[in-house]
Amino acid sequence: GSAASIPHVVMLATPGMGHLIPLAELAKRLASQHGVTTTLVAFASTKSSTQHAFLASLPPSITSLHLPPFDLSDLPHGTTIETLMSEECARSVPALTEILTKLKETNHVVAFITDLFGMDSFDAAYSAGIERRYLFIPTNLHLLTLMLHLPELDISIPGAFQDLAEPLQLPGCVPIPGKDLLSPLQDKSNPCYRWMVHHASRSIEADAILVNSFDAVEPDVATVLQQQEPGRPPVYNIGPLILTESKSKSINTVPPTSSRAACLDWLDRQPARSVIFVSFGSGGSLPTEQMRELALGLELSGQRFLWVVRSPSNEGAVNDNYYDAASKKDPFVFVPEGFVERTKDVGFLVSSWAPQIDVLAHQATGGFLTHCGWNSTLESLVHGVPMLAWPLYAEQHQNAVMLAEGIGAAIRVPELKGKEMIAEVVKELMAGEGKGAEVRTTVPNLQKDALEGLSEGGAASTALAEVVGKWAGDQN
Ligand code: UDP
Repeated sequence: GSAASIPHVVMLATPGMGHLIPLAELAKRLASQHGVTTTLVAFASTKSSTQHAFLASLPPSITSLHLPPFDLSDLPHGTTIETLMSEECARSVPALTEILTKLKETNHVVAFITDLFGMDSFDAAYSAGIERRYLFIPTNLHLLTLMLHLPELDISIPGAFQDLAEPLQLPGCVPIPGKDLLSPLQDKSNPCYRWMVHHASRSIEADAILVNSFDAVEPDVATVLQQQEPGRPPVYNIGPLILTESKSKSINTVPPTSSRAACLDWLDRQPARSVIFVSFGSGGSLPTEQMRELALGLELSGQRFLWVVRSPSNEGAVNDNYYDAASKKDPFVFVPEGFVERTKDVGFLVSSWAPQIDVLAHQATGGFLTHCGWNSTLESLVHGVPMLAWPLYAEQHQNAVMLAEGIGAAIRVPELKGKEMIAEVVKELMAGEGKGAEVRTTVPNLQKDALEGLSEGGAASTALAEVVGKWAGDQN
């Protein structure tokens, strides 16, 4: 049919590859399974080479465009990424309204989708007269539940969450200690706390909430949210939406190249399931001291490792690289002296960025020391790789709790991250007979459930079909 008759969706991805990648995967799924085309709108502030290569790799059913840049220079130094993203989104409403209005003139726009930090963009969708507005949660049902309860928690818990005597127990959720709750909620005097309450309050404006999770990884809360509840939008669990191997090739090297990454050649030479992959996501980095303990811990463990090394985060925050996925300096100078030489037979270091999907899919990879970013978590589960949880920021601590204490897909690295402790948990994950053995049994079952859900007639496919089904009766 012509553009005027093909259902078209507009998506706004707030800054960060972790938001962009799953939305793009959703767009691919909409095209391949339902013949729906998408315009994917991104922010100019994150026009990194990674983002650029990624957008360029998308199939023709997805058109991408950038919003104009917005001036954020009035915000004080040290403003959190959550506030930056929220401010940027709020300031983009007029420009976005214009884009949406134009798109509506030439396309049969059936829905607008954005993620949590993009709630204010609903105002643009209202102004442009787009009939349906959806909230996409790139993480999980635990995070969504926290958001749905946040407006009431904001009133019922006046003090700091970290001072709560008992873990917070929300319906169907693993109890989460206050200090492990979403990081922008930790300091209520920081503007980012108010922003989160604001987004949470607006989340119920969505016609439906789409979540990048699957029932088996958080079964109890999935049951709770499957029930319709007055005043709460219906929730659809449509994950795991992750990059597939072949499609990840073009963006998985920075700068993009067509040749195979050297770390994959190295993996080819390692025994099956013998290597622990160490990476802290697109934005994470460690303070120098922890980098050092990690290096020595890996060495002490005697296990093979593939480590994506980033410059340390001393001056700034643990999410220093968030807006720009590349290390600023040569990160290898920060590992302990002699470390590279001593571990050259068992270890391989990559600077800044690795082709993570290909690494997790490789038969030599047997474990993943991860910051528990949700995309990384899903990628690990889909490839059946057990995890060691070393959360840094955002909702990563609560992900770690739910993975370690809930479903048992991860072992958590204890609070005091000394080299001996690190060596011990690495060994346990890779070869131990206690928790390690349990995790190594649980993860393949979750892998099976995830893949089943995505197959034709599976839970994720059915949920998405139900959403799309509502668009069928629309007038062109
Ligand atoms: N990623 C990658 N190579 C790297 C680091 C990250 O390919 O060296 C990809 C990873 O596969 C995932 C995303 O970047 O798809 C990171 O998302 P996640 O939600 O795990 O963490 P975030 O970057 O948002 O903290």
